[in-house]
Amino acid sequence: MVKFSEQLLIWYDQHARTLPWRAANGCSVDPYHVWLSEIMLQQTTVRAVTAYFEKFLILWPSVEHLAAAPVDHVLKEWAGLGYYARARNLHKCADVITNTMGGKFPEKAADLIKLPGIGDYTAAAIASIAFGESVAVVDGNIERIIARQYRIETPLPAAKKAIKTYVSKLTPQNRPGDFAQAMMDLGASVCSPKNPDCQRCPVQNSCAAAKADDMERYPIKAPKKAKPTRRAVSFWLEHDGHILLERRPPKGLLGGMPGFFSSPWREQASIPDAPEYLHHAPTMAAWQPSKGIAKHTFTHFHLETQLVTALSGKRLNIENGFWHPVSELEGIGLPTVFAKIAQLKTLGR
Ligand code: SF4
Repeated sequence: MVKFSEQLLIWYDQHARTLPWRAANGCSVDPYHVWLSEIMLQQTTVRAVTAYFEKFLILWPSVEHLAAAPVDHVLKEWAGLGYYARARNLHKCADVITNTMGGKFPEKAADLIKLPGIGDYTAAAIASIAFGESVAVVDGNIERIIARQYRIETPLPAAKKAIKTYVSKLTPQNRPGDFAQAMMDLGASVCSPKNPDCQRCPVQNSCAAAKADDMERYPIKAPKKAKPTRRAVSFWLEHDGHILLERRPPKGLLGGMPGFFSSPWREQASIPDAPEYLHHAPTMAAWQPSKGIAKHTFTHFHLETQLVTALSGKRLNIENGFWHPVSELEGIGLPTVFAKIAQLKTLGR
């Protein structure tokens, strides 16, 4: 009987997706490309990542170029991709590789995992794809395939350990990186969450869920907690064609990114009213509410924000604040949540 990995690799040789970070036929894989793409792909779709990946390679064609860039420039170019801690860690990691490792990535997952921003999955993906180490690579797509192949009744995330053990056993010594990418591609194009196309699946003969015709039952997931909604007011203070922005603290959510001064993002029943939000305004002014509410969803909560606007008679100096031309707001690399809040200003006109 042909092994699972052999069946999958035969299929992969014919159906592999063409992606900008993959090596063309006959070329060797560049670890920098694999690392950069894997960091960008964490919690983000291939479609969203592609343009960012290509832009980063033009700006910084090697890990040394990236390490030499100012971190604020990297954060600016990352804007819109979300999860900004990734960009800060990307820059830190480039610095470590360039300045302490002679520009060479470690080749083993056990060493890669020690670097900033590289977790279990990313270390395994880089080690197997870029360096041919036979280690289990498990992302969400692969969890789904394995849960279906073995009809795993334990819900995720508790099933992760068992799934990894299955993947370890299936991963071949030969072409482990192609095997990992084949699993990713199978999950993305054939073993989809809804209506998996089992007739086109190269490993249908070993699939317990396909035999039982209950594929969509897997993977079983533990019920999700409902996300709370936090509410806040953001402040748009303008002076002479410039707006006051805040440079957020380097650590924490959206760390180091530009944004609007805001009242605390608190779980509360309604958007704070004038007496409450005024305590958090960057200055005393005739604040006027704009129309509309900006809504944004983070991993653990929803955020609803109202914008209040005012004119300032002078260019105030405020801690962590800086003035930026209103006409160049789009070019500054606002995170999506603040870009949505900025749009309320247009509504209010
Ligand atoms: Fe997924 Fe169907 Fe293939 Fe099983 S046979 S792995 S359910 S596509």
